[in-house]
Amino acid sequence: EAIIHLDVQVARLGARYILVLAEDRTEAYRLEEVRRDFIANISHELKTPIGAISLLAEALEPASDDPEQVRRFAKRMGTEATRLTQITREIIELSRLQSTDVLASAKLLDIDAIVSAAVDQNHVVADARGMKIAVGGSRKVKVMGDETLLTLALNNLIANAVQYSPDGSRIGVGVHHGDGVVELVVTDQGIGIPEDDLRRVFERFFRVDQARSRNTGGTGLGLSIVKHVVQNHGGDIRAWSQIGQGSTFTIRLPEATAETAASRGEKQR
Ligand code: ADP
Repeated sequence: EAIIHLDVQVARLGARYILVLAEDRTEAYRLEEVRRDFIANISHELKTPIGAISLLAEALEPASDDPEQVRRFAKRMGTEATRLTQITREIIELSRLQSTDVLASAKLLDIDAIVSAAVDQNHVVADARGMKIAVGGSRKVKVMGDETLLTLALNNLIANAVQYSPDGSRIGVGVHHGDGVVELVVTDQGIGIPEDDLRRVFERFFRVDQARSRNTGGTGLGLSIVKHVVQNHGGDIRAWSQIGQGSTFTIRLPEATAETAASRGEKQR
């Protein structure tokens, strides 16, 4: 449905001339709605751990003669505080991404460095669960962008692949390029995502099966951060999945050559 604002102005010289201005405000209203939902979600997500910490703090005092109970409550408080920190960090990251133009300070980057860093960040958890992260494809490719943000984006995809896959399974990270496009592909043999949910996974705070996902400790912000990073780099992201078989996430970025970098340098000077 479209939302149209009408503005009627009667011209000064008699009522013979009437000016009607019609403005399509649909997009503005939609954005306002998205903003309101986001704030409602943030409040909800923050209230849950804060509420838990308050309750636990209240329960500590009467439990003071039972060291075992105190230890349990303290541990829970720590977990909730960690969750609060993670949510806050991701919300700040997301709002920063929405208000900055990363390409303004973009550098010519080696994909190899980004892939290695993102894979390294997941090795400890993957190893602990007997999982193997196999890297393949051509890695002598370059893109223009922000190294920290691109590493964060790829890291989020690999971390999800590890998180939502069984112990001992295999994660693939591939780099392909051609026709001026670089593809970063993360494949897993995990639980998969139902078809109806697949197009919603990039929404802020969306999680497949909230109840089950809560146990894995995520926030539902990871993929929306990935999407923003990729879009800020002039790229896009797509997902395929089959329940019980696994998922594939593909980031596509414009390939950069030394010439692209040089011509951008020219323009900036
Ligand atoms: P979270 O912090 O919950 O992982 P994300 O935004 O990264 O948030 O992902 C949103 C939801 O998409 C997750 O809660 C999970 O249900 C689903 N998901 C993401 N990646 C995968 C994957 N590789 N396999 C299965 N499900 C996934």
